[in-house]
Amino acid sequence: MKNIENNIQTLKKKIKYLLRNNSSSLNNIKIIAASKNQSVQKIKIALSCGIYEFGENYVQEGIHKIKQLQKNHNIIWHFIGKLQSKKTKLVAQYFDWCQTIDREKIAILLNKYRKIKEVPINVLIQINISKEKNKNGVSIEDYQKLSKTVSKMPYLNFRGIMVMPKKETIKYNNYKNINNIFNYLQKKYKSVDTLSLGTSFDMKTALMYNSNMIRIGKDIFNF
Ligand SMILES: *Cc1c(COP(=O)(O)O)cnc(C)c1O
Repeated sequence: MKNIENNIQTLKKKIKYLLRNNSSSLNNIKIIAASKNQSVQKIKIALSCGIYEFGENYVQEGIHKIKQLQKNHNIIWHFIGKLQSKKTKLVAQYFDWCQTIDREKIAILLNKYRKIKEVPINVLIQINISKEKNKNGVSIEDYQKLSKTVSKMPYLNFRGIMVMPKKETIKYNNYKNINNIFNYLQKKYKSVDTLSLGTSFDMKTALMYNSNMIRIGKDIFNF
C-alpha cells in the first residue's frame, strides 16, 4: 500500500513540473482520484496522503463507499459515470458533485431531487467534442442551450464543463475548442470556474489547455 503514497507524490511532482512555465500552480489544480473498482481500504490510504476528492462511476458502488466513509466529513464525492434518469435521485442524495450532465431531463430530475437537501449540488456539463456517435456528452451544437437550462436551476450550482477524451481522438484542436468553450461560459456565467479535463494519459495536454480539475485513476491506484 506504500505504492499509493509513492504514486501520489510522483503525481504531484509531475503536475508541478508540467506547470513550470504556466501561471497556474499545483494548488490551483484539483486532483480527483477516480476510484471505481478500488476498495475502501485504498481510498483511506489516498485520504491519508492528502487526497480528499473522489470520483465514482457506478451509483451503487459509490454509495456503498460513501456510507462506509461517512465519518470522514472532509471527503468530497463526485459522480463521474454515465447517469441514467432512474439513478438521479440517489446521486442528488449522496454526491457533492455530478460531472456528467448531458441532457435536460437529467438536469431537471437532479434539481428536483436535490431540493430536499436544501443545498445545491455542484454540476458540470459533459461535452462530447469528438463528434462520435454513442459517446457520452452533449454535442458542441447543443451545449449552450443546456448551459442555459442548468444555470437557471435553483438546486444546481453550475460550475463548468467536463470532457472525457479518448486516446484515439486527442488532437490539440479539440483541446483548444474545449478551452474556448470554457472561456465563453466563464464570461457568461459567474458560477463557472471548473474545467474537468485530463486523466492519467492526457494530463500534460489538459494542463496546457487550462484544465483545473483532473480525474486520475491509474496513476494513483495502479502499480
Ligand atoms: C476511470 C476514469 C478516469 C480516470 O482514468 P485513468 O486513465 O485511470 O486515470 C477519469 N474520468 C472518468 C470519467 C473515468 O471513468
